[in-house]
Amino acid sequence: MKAFEWSSPGSVDEAVKLLAEIKPQDVNDAARPMSGGQDLLTTMKERILAPRRVVNLKTIEGLGGISLDPSSGLKIGALTKLHEIESHPVIVKSYPGLAEAAHSIATVQLRNMGTIGGNLCQRPRCWYFRLPHVVCLKKGGDTCYSEHGENKYNAILGGGPSFIVHPSDLATMLTALDATITIHGPKGVRVVPIGNFFILPEEDASRENVLEDAEIITQIQIPASGFAGRSTYLKFKERSSLDFAMGAAAAAVELGADKRVLQARLVLGAVAPIPWRVPQAEAVLIGKPLNDDTIGAAVEIALQGAAPLQHNAYKIPLSKTLLRRALNQLKSA
Ligand SMILES: Cc1cc2nc3c(=O)[nH]c(=O)nc-3n(C[C@H](O)[C@H](O)[C@H](O)COP(=O)(O)OP(=O)(O)OC[C@H]3O[C@@H](n4cnc5c(N)ncnc54)[C@H](O)[C@@H]3O)c2cc1C
Repeated sequence: MKAFEWSSPGSVDEAVKLLAEIKPQDVNDAARPMSGGQDLLTTMKERILAPRRVVNLKTIEGLGGISLDPSSGLKIGALTKLHEIESHPVIVKSYPGLAEAAHSIATVQLRNMGTIGGNLCQRPRCWYFRLPHVVCLKKGGDTCYSEHGENKYNAILGGGPSFIVHPSDLATMLTALDATITIHGPKGVRVVPIGNFFILPEEDASRENVLEDAEIITQIQIPASGFAGRSTYLKFKERSSLDFAMGAAAAAVELGADKRVLQARLVLGAVAPIPWRVPQAEAVLIGKPLNDDTIGAAVEIALQGAAPLQHNAYKIPLSKTLLRRALNQLKSA
């Protein structure tokens, strides 16, 4: 790990100032914010990142916590721990899919340290990206080695020129819940819908989201909706103890009194460089009851356009199964 300067600000403004003071000389040496530190310190040890300054957000009071306003919805501070999200009574009751997504992450120990802000901004797990001596496309090289290499865990949708998949379980579920993200930076505050927060590699292969240097996430908001209470998150992982998703499905639906679908949100995880929302599959369900025929049609449409690499065609039937099970679960929820 390269030597770095450590700072512990007392406010968001001070953190932004400390981040902005360091003028990056290459893509990897910009100052970085640190929350739980689980991924940042790992990427520094792996020499993927070499920030000249690390700004510890944990010393900023009021950056954590969960609150509910019945009209505007749920607010989750960026420093809120994953275990707080999985066990918060309001989230368990009124946003069950979010509690399930948080619970699906790693282990109790990791959920006790990892934060929602860090979880959304963690870097991808692609082997080539994580290998210190490989300079892949995401690290300033000119080749995505996963395209023709070991690509069992890589993208089947939205890939190219890089084929990473987004690692965050919360990102997939928050996309289904229409979350928005509050960002503080040198130019002020902005609120970005989560659907515009993550970016595809075709836009910029070196980063995964729209955050600019010296910008930090301070809060995640989930608006009140008719579908948050009927939501679920299903994840398949290779090891049952702890693992990143090989496939995941986040689903949320609002049913009318006649049990027909009024609104639907369907998002696939671990198949694309961003949480992969499938609006064309959602549209198939609107105005219809959830049954084998409608669910079957939505599931087929959701995976249309998938283009598997040599070793990951299994992700198509896996994703279909997860989405089908999620929708069947919501039918009787
Ligand atoms: C063994 C292992 C298994 C895991 N399994 C899963 C899994 O199955 N699913 C899953 O979703 N996650 C998984 N994770 C990720 C983990 O749960 C944490 O969410 C993640 O490591 C980051 O959380 P953190 O708070 O420690 O972030 P940090 O390490 O502090 O930060 C991560 C990145 O985000 C940036 N950052 C941090 N906070 C902010 C902020 N507020 N604003 C802007 N940028 C910020 C940092 O600069 C850094 O680049 C796993 C991690 C490990 C080590």
